[in-house]
Amino acid sequence: RIAYVNGQYVRHADAAVHVEDRGYQFADGVYEVCEVWQGKIVDVPRHLDRLGRSLNELRIDWPMARNAVEFVLHQVVRRNLVRNGLVYIQVTRGVSKRDHFFPPAHVAPSIVVTARSSSPTAAKAQAEQGISVFSYPENRWPRVDIKTVALLPNVLAKQNAKEQGGKEAWYVDADGNVTEGGSTNAWIVTKEGVLVTRPAESGILRGITRAVVLDLVQKEGLTFEERPFSLEEAFDAKEAFVTAATTVVMPVTRLDGRIIGNGHPGSVATRLRELFHTATDLQAV
Ligand code: PLP
Repeated sequence: RIAYVNGQYVRHADAAVHVEDRGYQFADGVYEVCEVWQGKIVDVPRHLDRLGRSLNELRIDWPMARNAVEFVLHQVVRRNLVRNGLVYIQVTRGVSKRDHFFPPAHVAPSIVVTARSSSPTAAKAQAEQGISVFSYPENRWPRVDIKTVALLPNVLAKQNAKEQGGKEAWYVDADGNVTEGGSTNAWIVTKEGVLVTRPAESGILRGITRAVVLDLVQKEGLTFEERPFSLEEAFDAKEAFVTAATTVVMPVTRLDGRIIGNGHPGSVATRLRELFHTATDLQAV
């Protein structure tokens, strides 16, 4: 395997950043994950738009021109022979002696790009079974709209789910509403057949997969509402699912140990999963 680290392609086993990297010391960095599907990178423009937004919000410079980042994404996918899998980009504020204040202006941001293959067969099997989700009190900072590498709350929430046999956590805020998953956006389909997902204005990351699914939902003429939904409403839903570049559309069949709908992946989630890539921007590597 090959990784890209600050201007060089290196063996993945040897890929490293300095111990004084601000990503390591302060989680002072941002990231993106793009899906690689059938030899194509999914929604690169939207992911790079969001990367630019995250960098801007944290006042970190682009490590190099946007089209150079795009070129490296392609190179890393190609050099690793990834047909199906993920490509990961991380940018931090760079290497400088440990100090909370921003480093001097000459310090360049660090960039790392890695890619790995994953099994479409395993993903399909998971989607046919559905996943189990466990709720978790919302305890993250209010700026979850920024895709930062500061993911300790997400790590703890997801580990809590895993230790109960689950695959994802759903954060529940003080009003009893589901915000989003530990690494996914959350959706339900009500008994009346209405798709519901929380608006992107507060409490969630503006997921790229969520946006694509919203496009698809409109194209298919399905009824949907962007509004908060509660955990109680989710227990009573006909279907539930999560969206992310890592899982595409993944049906949720259990929530806090309770069965959702008939306990099998719902027809809406299944159809959206099948149609998903027709609504994406695909770049051949
Ligand atoms: N919400 C959180 C907290 C995430 O970490 C992610 C992805 O990593 C998502 C939502 C889904 O975003 P996307 O569809 O862009 O992958």
